[in-house]
Amino acid sequence: MAVTVALEDVTKVWPDGTVAVDRLDLAVREGEFLVLLGPSGCGKSTVLRMIAGLEDPTDGTILLNGEPVTELAPRDRQIAMVFQDFALYPHMTVGGNLDFPLKLSGVDREGRGERIGAVAAALGIGDVLSRKPAQLSGGQRQRVAMGRAIVRRPGLFLMDEPLSNLDSGLRAELRAEITGMTRELGVTTMYVTHDQAEALTMADRVAILRGGVLQDVGTPTEVYGRPATLYVAAFLGSPRMNLLEASVYVHLDRHVVLDLGDQVLHLPWTDLRARAIARYHGERIVVGARAEAFTPVAPETPGDVLRGRIRYLEHHGHESLAFLDIGATAVLVDDLGRDAGAAEPAAGPLRRVEGALRRMSGRARPEPVRPGKTSVLGDPGRHLRRPAEVAVRLAPYPAVAPGYPLAVGVRMAALHFFDERGDRIDVGWR
Ligand code: ADP
Repeated sequence: MAVTVALEDVTKVWPDGTVAVDRLDLAVREGEFLVLLGPSGCGKSTVLRMIAGLEDPTDGTILLNGEPVTELAPRDRQIAMVFQDFALYPHMTVGGNLDFPLKLSGVDREGRGERIGAVAAALGIGDVLSRKPAQLSGGQRQRVAMGRAIVRRPGLFLMDEPLSNLDSGLRAELRAEITGMTRELGVTTMYVTHDQAEALTMADRVAILRGGVLQDVGTPTEVYGRPATLYVAAFLGSPRMNLLEASVYVHLDRHVVLDLGDQVLHLPWTDLRARAIARYHGERIVVGARAEAFTPVAPETPGDVLRGRIRYLEHHGHESLAFLDIGATAVLVDDLGRDAGAAEPAAGPLRRVEGALRRMSGRARPEPVRPGKTSVLGDPGRHLRRPAEVAVRLAPYPAVAPGYPLAVGVRMAALHFFDERGDRIDVGWR
């Protein structure tokens, strides 16, 4: 039977004072595939280890099927765990490795054969059952490791970056196999990764952690489509969401103006979000726009259009990305992790040189800091700003080059708005 998991106000402080998990509330439903996502060091593994009973929480309660885990002996928790470097017994064949945990738990010969057959088929390792681990590829070894964990039919499957040692082709293949297998067996699964693409493709729901604090939890569509915080907005998706500083001005008889610096956008009063944004009259907010919010248009197109020059291009085969200078200021979110996705528009050597030149020529950072206020816009230690290079999707290998002008239509409905603290500004938000 699949297991439910509930973490209630769970905190883990290590003896050296590191707060690895900070007042976490999270419920995992029966049979659900929940992905814990965040950069390295954000507390993902600690959460899994506490659920498995390998660590005790400093505070809070962990419940399995509604019962506090502390009341359950580890063997009664019905938990299986797979790590990145899960070791197999080298002297046993694949079949032996799968058989061993079943023998230990006293399953009879017939039952064992049946279960091993089913798991081997689900994982595509049926033809290597008589081989030793040394005779397997990395992908096959990881499949066997997962098979060995799942063959006991646990109620809860905990996986900690199980694919991170594999090459990218194999990773993509195994993602589908893992989700297929866990759904088929109906086992509740908690899966840890720092890879946002992996999270979005595999999860029923994703929980995003930053510095031990839960940022957002929802289906991939929810967290990608309506990120609750600036951090989540920046973490999910590739290329990263463009995050632009905007000053808000209200024209009562017309619209709300979003002043991006050299150019403005207008939010008409017919847009349901205009009222919420109008409350920030005279203040700065962050406007988030994914590349898909922009469509290249003819230069004279009226309406919500931004114009700029192409700073540089990135060709990805199936599409090209243009990075436009539109005279706006980008807000940078830190601790996104180095490979949280295809990341930051490649900060190539050229742009580093550019930055150095800018510093030498004394061209200052765009904005002064408001003293005494901690906010994404005013805390230079945490959130730097720099001239925005707005990512726009183009057809592959377009007939444009750096320096060319480009106009893009803005799909206003696709914009996201965040306040100074980095929380989503919206109407009717959760
Ligand atoms: P993640 O899995 O997201 O990479 P971890 O849960 O491993 O993060 O670690 C969270 C934080 O706790 C990190 O700052 C890490 O250095 C710290 N940490 C992890 N394990 C221990 C430990 N046994 N003792 C002290 N600090 C630890």
